Amino acid sequence: MGNGARMDANEPAAPTPLAWAPNARHRVLIIGSGFGGLFAAKALRRAEVDVTVLGGTPHHLFQPLLYQVATGILSQGEIAPATREILRRQRNARVLLGTAVGIDTAARRVTARAPGRTAPYSIGYDSLIVATGASQSYFGHPEFAAHAPGLKSIDDALDLRGRIFGAFELAELEEDPAARARRLTFVVVGAGATGVEMAGQIAELAHRSLRGEYRRIDPRSARIILVDGGDAVLPAFGDSLSARTARKLDDLGIEVRLKTMVTDVDARSVTLKHADGSEERVESMVKVWAAGVAASSFAAELAAATGAPTDRSGRIQVLPDCTIPGHPEIFVVGDVMALDQLPGVAQVAIQSGQYAASQITARLQGHEGRPAFKYHDKGSLATVARFSAVAHVGPIKATGLLAWLLWLFVHLLYLVGFEQRVTTLFHWAVSFAGRGRAERAVTARQVFGKNPVPAPTNTTGTPVAAAGRYTPRDDGA
Ligand SMILES: Cc1cc2nc3c(=O)[nH]c(=O)nc-3n(C[C@H](O)[C@H](O)[C@H](O)COP(=O)(O)OP(=O)(O)OC[C@H]3O[C@@H](n4cnc5c(N)ncnc54)[C@H](O)[C@@H]3O)c2cc1C
Repeated sequence: MGNGARMDANEPAAPTPLAWAPNARHRVLIIGSGFGGLFAAKALRRAEVDVTVLGGTPHHLFQPLLYQVATGILSQGEIAPATREILRRQRNARVLLGTAVGIDTAARRVTARAPGRTAPYSIGYDSLIVATGASQSYFGHPEFAAHAPGLKSIDDALDLRGRIFGAFELAELEEDPAARARRLTFVVVGAGATGVEMAGQIAELAHRSLRGEYRRIDPRSARIILVDGGDAVLPAFGDSLSARTARKLDDLGIEVRLKTMVTDVDARSVTLKHADGSEERVESMVKVWAAGVAASSFAAELAAATGAPTDRSGRIQVLPDCTIPGHPEIFVVGDVMALDQLPGVAQVAIQSGQYAASQITARLQGHEGRPAFKYHDKGSLATVARFSAVAHVGPIKATGLLAWLLWLFVHLLYLVGFEQRVTTLFHWAVSFAGRGRAERAVTARQVFGKNPVPAPTNTTGTPVAAAGRYTPRDDGA
């Protein structure tokens, strides 16, 4: 093992190499099957390379629609097609299930672990594209996660679905008005796009979709509180769109608390600290954490192995061509990349993934010294409620129905898979033209039976993924 090795000498057995070189061509290893990884792989479909996509999950996840899985509009399959199904016709690509836990940059090998398999395995590469994305940050309070799930994965979305629909069920059983109110108080932390979309959909559920279904409670009595430490909702959209969104949220009956910090979260409540220093304890059963991102844990492994600098969120600071200093063979793209203050959005991941692929192809064709990565901002979109969205595309700033139709079109365009598009359209018709929610089913195991799932660990035994937080739920009832 040479310089830069991050594989543990105490590893019980050397990871088994999982060789695959059908044509002994240049090997490209892509870690992550999100937007960055998938679009990089697709961009290499005609290249004279053998591509391995290593993914911690067997699916590609369309994160922007996770909130619709959490609120019963879409099924998980619609936003998470199997990666190997997407790439089945791409003969130069293979897909492996595994979490990258170590890297030996001198030997150009990555070690991975798969759930349900004790022995690690290793994959060699000639070029590496790291597209491992971001995880939730609780700003130094990881203990909040058990009570306030984030929204980064299918597990998160199904967990939240269980909590949200479960809250209405349990409220129907309560005699005590205070307990009932606690069940029906939803606190969403973070007023960026995810927080606004979650709060908007919970409001739609309470005010429209669930109307008439209960006999002892009125779902419309639910309180939805959107909290943010900053002074605006959707700050990335600029002042005027932000103000219009705030008015729409008010119309929906959502209480927006700005310049307010969350100082504590437990099973039954959230403690808020206001700008004047006063504290308020809000009794709430369902909390959603939509604030703060941190680089995926593999970034720390990579930084330690290569000496690459990282920013405050742990993202890898790359050179203008998306590579790591001293390692032209290692590209870092998407949410885990820090470059020119680019935001953590799907288009940055897609374009940087495609750029890395084009760099590799160009080098193989002998074209060195190609231009630096240049991001083309295609604009931002967020929904607030049905028929109401916010759009900032070039000079166009729009809210309401027009923005919503644009949102609909763009999301259908980027959803992967024909079947997924058809069933998604159908489910949107059910939820938006009608008022039903086709995907409300939640199993007891999703809600109550979450046995701890051991997180994959790196070579020093430190967990490298967020799976460890799936502890059995205690809602304090
Ligand atoms: C709820 C939500 C809503 C969003 N809404 C929008 C939106 O409306 N518009 C927009 O532009 N952007 C939105 N985003 C942001 C957008 O989804 C991300 O910017 C984009 O997904 C980043 O792509 P990525 O490939 O870098 O990372 P990801 O899509 O996060 O993919 C990372 C992949 O790497 C895998 N992985 C992680 N660690 C390892 C490892 N060690 N080994 C192997 N695999 C690993 C993960 O399983 C995952 O498949 C949203 C994000 C969230 C969470």
